[in-house]
Amino acid sequence: MAEGYVEYRNLRKSFGGLEILHGVDLTIPEGAFAVLVGPSGCGKSTLLRMTAGLEDVTSGEINIAGRMVNNVHAKNRGIAMVFQSYALYPHMSVEDNMSFGLKMRKTPLHLITDRIKRAAAILKLGPMLDRLPSQLSGGQRQRVAMGRALTREPEVFLFDEPLSNLDAKLRVEMRAEIKALHQRLKTTTIYVTHDQIEAMTMADLVVVMHDDRIEQVGEPLAIYDRPANLFVAEFLGSPA
Ligand code: ADP
Ligand code: MG
Repeated sequence: MAEGYVEYRNLRKSFGGLEILHGVDLTIPEGAFAVLVGPSGCGKSTLLRMTAGLEDVTSGEINIAGRMVNNVHAKNRGIAMVFQSYALYPHMSVEDNMSFGLKMRKTPLHLITDRIKRAAAILKLGPMLDRLPSQLSGGQRQRVAMGRALTREPEVFLFDEPLSNLDAKLRVEMRAEIKALHQRLKTTTIYVTHDQIEAMTMADLVVVMHDDRIEQVGEPLAIYDRPANLFVAEFLGSPA
């Protein structure tokens, strides 16, 4: 019986015969802010892309809210994903960037207007709705990308290293904003980073990944105090 909101069962992924995820078993509870952390190349983005339906499952299962979604189209999974490169349309205003996906889904216009108003208020984008992405700072662009995800009103948020392109100061600010957003909406979130500090400061649940598998799952302090193995201890800088 599925208890978790996002659940992976013996999930495997191969590219051209080479297996890069070796049987992931993981449960993310409803409303959690889970941070998936691990070195570059360990398969974090692949796992997120599979969750979003942007990459096929080789074997195993992905369940969302108790429903097996392996063969559910990306747009019907109730998921919104925020990428590292903001992937905004350069020739469209902030407002059009935010509404484009909803228009494609034939969402009624009054609903689109409501949702954009709400997202703009939450993300402090109100005065910027008419601007082009080129007229915004990096942090503002990332907010637009988040706004676009927010207007979809997803059941699950996926973030793939959303702050990597920002400078250190802005990164700290945006961490707090993303956490505040989660406090407010309580949307189940999987946040990917290779930054240990980001993981320890943002997560309810830390998932440490290494060599294409999951090493340990737990609350930040519990993992830090009781690392399951040497890799986790060294990666998180736990005291010896
Ligand atoms: P991370 O996000 O943790 O840095 P990725 O999920 O991007 O890791 O990549 C995991 C592994 O899968 C890497 O070895 C990468 O080269 C490989 N990989 C990712 N996408 C593809 C692809 N489309 N084709 C072949 N190999 C891929
Ligand atoms: Mg990645």
